[in-house]
Amino acid sequence: MTKNIDWSNLGFGYVQTDYRYVSNFVNGAWDDGVLTQDANIVLNECAGVLQYAQTIFEGLKAYRTQDGKIVTFRPDLNAERMVSSAKRLEMPVFPTDRFIDAVKKVVAANADYVPPYGSGATLYLRPYMFGSNPVIGVKPASEYQFRIFCTPVGPYFKGGAKPITIRVSDFDRAAPNGTGSIKAGLNYAMSLHAIVTAHAEGFDENMYLDPKTRTKVEETGGANFLFVTKDGKVVTPKSDSILPSITRRSLVYVAKEYLGLEVEEREVFFDEVKDFAECGLCGTAAVISPVGKIVDHGKEICLPSGMDDMGPVTRKLYETLTGIQMGRLEAPEGWIQVIE
Ligand SMILES: *Cc1c(COP(=O)(O)O)cnc(C)c1O
Repeated sequence: MTKNIDWSNLGFGYVQTDYRYVSNFVNGAWDDGVLTQDANIVLNECAGVLQYAQTIFEGLKAYRTQDGKIVTFRPDLNAERMVSSAKRLEMPVFPTDRFIDAVKKVVAANADYVPPYGSGATLYLRPYMFGSNPVIGVKPASEYQFRIFCTPVGPYFKGGAKPITIRVSDFDRAAPNGTGSIKAGLNYAMSLHAIVTAHAEGFDENMYLDPKTRTKVEETGGANFLFVTKDGKVVTPKSDSILPSITRRSLVYVAKEYLGLEVEEREVFFDEVKDFAECGLCGTAAVISPVGKIVDHGKEICLPSGMDDMGPVTRKLYETLTGIQMGRLEAPEGWIQVIE
C-alpha cells in the first residue's frame, strides 16, 4: 500500500524509509550484503571518511510509470560511474551487477514509498561508499561500507519550471587534472561556500569556468550545461573536469535520435554564451532546469528564451526524456529497468 504522504508538497529532503542496503568490504572482499531497518551507522572516531573524506556517491530515481510499474532509469550507468569514482579515490570497486541488484532490492523493499504516477514526486536513491576503519597516516582505508538508502522527493518544479539566474563564480569547483569528473563528497564540500554566497547575493546557481584558463564553460555545482544555438543546434561543454551527467548523455541521445537535432560536444568558450538562444542545467534532480539569465561580475546575459518559461528546444528535450522515463514514450533498449 502506497504510504499516505502529501506527494505534491514534498520537498527535496531526507525522509526515512523502511529499508536500506549495506555491504562491508573487510579482508579484501565484499560480504554478501543485506537489507536492514537500521538507518544509523556507528563508526570509529578515526574512520578514514571522517579524517580524509574518502567517500563517493551516486544519485538516481525510481518512478511509477503510466501503466503502474516501478522502474529505474539507466542504473547501469550509475554503477559504472561509481567504479570510476572508486578507482580515482583508491577505493575498492563495488561490482556493477551487485550495484544494480542492490538498487532493485532497495526499491522493492520500499515500494510503498514510490510516489504515484502523475504526482511529480519520485523515489530518490543514494548509493554511496566510504572508508570505515581507523586511518590516521594519510593512506586509503582498508575497510569500506557500501550503502543505498532511498527517500521520496517532491516535484522539482512546483507550479511550472521557472528559469533561474546564475552567476559566473570566482571560485573553482575542480582542479585541472583533479577530481572534477568523479562523484565525490569532496567536490561538494569545496562548493558549499560558493553556493551559499551565490544565494546570499540573489543567484540560484554558480557557473564554473575551466580552472586553468577561466575562459571555458564547465558546469554548475551539480548539473551539466546544455545550450541551444539560434539555429537550433544543441551544444554541450566537453572537458575532463566535468562530471559526466547521465541526464546530459541521455538528452544528447534524445536530441539526435528522437528529435533529429544536431548536437556538438565540444569546448564552449564563455564568450560564445551571449549568442546562444537557450540554456539549461541537466541532472537527475530536475532533468532540465532552464536558465534565463547569466551574470558575469555585473554584466548580464539575458537568454532570448526569457524569464517566464523554458525555451522551445529545452522544453522538447525535457518532455521527451521525461516521457521516456514515465513510460509515455518508447525507451531505447536497456534504459528502463522494471522492478515490479
Ligand atoms: C551528479 C552530478 C551531475 C548530474 O549527473 P546526473 O547523472 O545527470 O544526475 C552533474 N554535475 C555534478 C557535479 C554532479 O555531481
